[in-house]
Amino acid sequence: MTTATAADVAAALRSADAVTILCHVRPDPDTLGSGLALGQALAALGMTVEVAYPGDLSLPAAMAALPGADLLVPAGEVAGHPVAVSVDAATLGRLEELGEVFGRAERRIVIDHHVSNSGFGTLDFIDPSSDCTASLVLQIVDELGVELTEPIATCVYAGLVTDTGSFKWARPASFGVATRLLEAGVDGATWSRRLLDSHPFAWFHVASAVLADAELVQSACDGAGLVYSTVPHALLSSMEWDESEGLIDLVRTAEDAEVAAVFKESEPGRWNVSLRSKDTVDVTAIARHFGGGGHIRASGYSIEGTADEVTAALLRAVGADVR
Ligand code: MN
Repeated sequence: MTTATAADVAAALRSADAVTILCHVRPDPDTLGSGLALGQALAALGMTVEVAYPGDLSLPAAMAALPGADLLVPAGEVAGHPVAVSVDAATLGRLEELGEVFGRAERRIVIDHHVSNSGFGTLDFIDPSSDCTASLVLQIVDELGVELTEPIATCVYAGLVTDTGSFKWARPASFGVATRLLEAGVDGATWSRRLLDSHPFAWFHVASAVLADAELVQSACDGAGLVYSTVPHALLSSMEWDESEGLIDLVRTAEDAEVAAVFKESEPGRWNVSLRSKDTVDVTAIARHFGGGGHIRASGYSIEGTADEVTAALLRAVGADVR
């Protein structure tokens, strides 16, 4: 795959009159921040811009408060301009029904940092060495010659701070980007708190139930250990969709286990399973066993059955010594 550069993307965008920017399903702050940062930059150049994500979920409050959110249009009302840009989507499938809008654009630009992205545009700017897609958008903003205003910088910061886990696993270049963003006026403390350290009070109940029900199976994964918990449908339905994403981050803090799993019952009898590992176990192998996939340290799969059946299937797959 030949990947384009930020300058190539800027050159392709500069001649456009109207651009459709598409974010991935169940948008996170990197895809949305990337979309809104690029959208504001193109709007500053006088272009007509629309930003959209598939589905009809309403945005979590923190993301809805990002500058440029007025550029968002509901998925069903997307006009579909001749130039379309996909941000932070590793595959066309991640755009769901908006993949059709992307597919019929004359120029299709892919901007992403997922190593698994093999390119699905007429111009693919894919850089897995970047911690987030938003930093790639910043390079394009620079190439376009658009001033890095505080609203644009805030959207880039949203992607950077969340995709690096508050800079916990940030690579050196990201600190240079962060310096620029903060110097452009981003209120880093407030946005970090809103995006990463805020939960509705009702979440406490769910989180405590998930932690209370967690099981540690030390014999799993050749003795490296597995910690897992289940979130039954009734409990899962009591929380906002984005709030359930962070449960695995609580469970995986167990130092006794190399691998962590959270089973979320999205529909009665249907489970989405999140897997994480720390240092040694490749969880894509486990996910693939069940028809899923992902990254070495973070993957997932879907499975049907009762809570006992689906957890027993995982325990068997990781060689746990259970009755
Ligand atoms: Mn990302």
